[in-house]
Amino acid sequence: MPPAPTLVKGMRDLLPPETHWFQAVEAAARELFARYGYREIRTPILERTELFARTVGEETDIVGKEMYSFLDRDQTSLTLRPEATAAVARAYVEHRLWEQPGWTRLYYLGPMFRRERPQQGRYRQFSQIGAELLGGDAPQMDAEMLVMLARLLDRLGLSGWTLSLNSLGCAEDRPRFERALREALLPIAPRLCGDCRRRAETNPLRVLDCKRPEDQPLIAQLPTTLDLLDPPCREHFEQVKQLLERAGVPYQLQPRLVRGLDYYTRTAFEFVHGALGAQNALLGGGRYDLLAERLGAPKGAGAGIGFALGEDRLVSAWRAGLAPSDPPPAAEIYLAPLGEAALAPALELAEQLRQAGLSVAAGDARWSAKKHLSTASRQAARWAVLIGEQEIQARQATVKTLANGEQSAVAWPQLAEFFATASGAARA
Ligand code: AMP
Repeated sequence: MPPAPTLVKGMRDLLPPETHWFQAVEAAARELFARYGYREIRTPILERTELFARTVGEETDIVGKEMYSFLDRDQTSLTLRPEATAAVARAYVEHRLWEQPGWTRLYYLGPMFRRERPQQGRYRQFSQIGAELLGGDAPQMDAEMLVMLARLLDRLGLSGWTLSLNSLGCAEDRPRFERALREALLPIAPRLCGDCRRRAETNPLRVLDCKRPEDQPLIAQLPTTLDLLDPPCREHFEQVKQLLERAGVPYQLQPRLVRGLDYYTRTAFEFVHGALGAQNALLGGGRYDLLAERLGAPKGAGAGIGFALGEDRLVSAWRAGLAPSDPPPAAEIYLAPLGEAALAPALELAEQLRQAGLSVAAGDARWSAKKHLSTASRQAARWAVLIGEQEIQARQATVKTLANGEQSAVAWPQLAEFFATASGAARA
């Protein structure tokens, strides 16, 4: 036999109970985003390759090296989305969402694909939770989003995050900044890596995003965008910072933070966490005042700000930062039908308990009581409910509390109430 197929490199299966933490993060995010007026958008996993080339940028690592692209049967080049902001901006334009009154607040969650070198915290399929606030350029929008993110991380009990903040300047600032960078790069470019040497010519801002440790001392000598902001951009950034201070959200200025995507203008940010090691960015984002306009939105209607949070990294920081708490068991009640005759009444009882809101998983009626009890405790159930011939005669169940071994006989109609009371007592 040929060897059995295995996982594709860089991909992973998320198994229970790991998936519990993902669900918990997703539930917290959905709930909090709703409080800020965000609603969910679901865009396709596949987009035209051109969308990412034109927005994320040809010179970025994502577009240049990491996309899963292929030719469809009609020869259209399609790409598994490496990020979702470009897709949300496309949908915003395609469905003319700018016509709706006020700003548009959208959030999304789902898988993204990048063919990066796999390592801890970096996968080729990973999940992002993100949000986009579109339709304006008020500094208030930037601050609102950053405050919401600080609240989300605090709420998840993730103490120890740091917000890194920068302003990349607007479209008018960009040529001035590129000129300054090109000049500063002239003498040092020959000592930088091949990518940097090329980018020094084609897209000098991207040099600041180089991850090669050997290049960092030279990159540290380059001018920063903050030195060259024009007065309106400087004022915009000042207001964002002031609003953050008013809201009590601490930040650190990080003048070399450019992010790995070309569409950002003005505010750019990252939240990093110490528990993550080398891949320490939990989430990143920024303002993109021209993104939707480049995709066809009317002038001024396409400005916005967004972020994407790496769910895989958030879950691992969360688990590293918190006292390890046990995920809930598959089912709180393990039901043991003892023998074929007990099966039908036991299954009926299980249905009644489920209808009362309890979680119940049954074992095989052919198993011995001993095997049932060991299965119940290995599954980490809270109670084992045994139904045998005697119990059927008496219309009772033998309930064993697995934490302390206590056993009691409970009449069928009282079972749901018994568990509700026991749960309440355990919580009190
Ligand atoms: P980006 O879309 O590059 O701005 O990334 C936003 C966030 O997504 C990062 O801060 C990471 O938390 C997460 N992320 C990006 N790439 C990966 C990856 N290959 N594996 C896991 N998480 C990732």
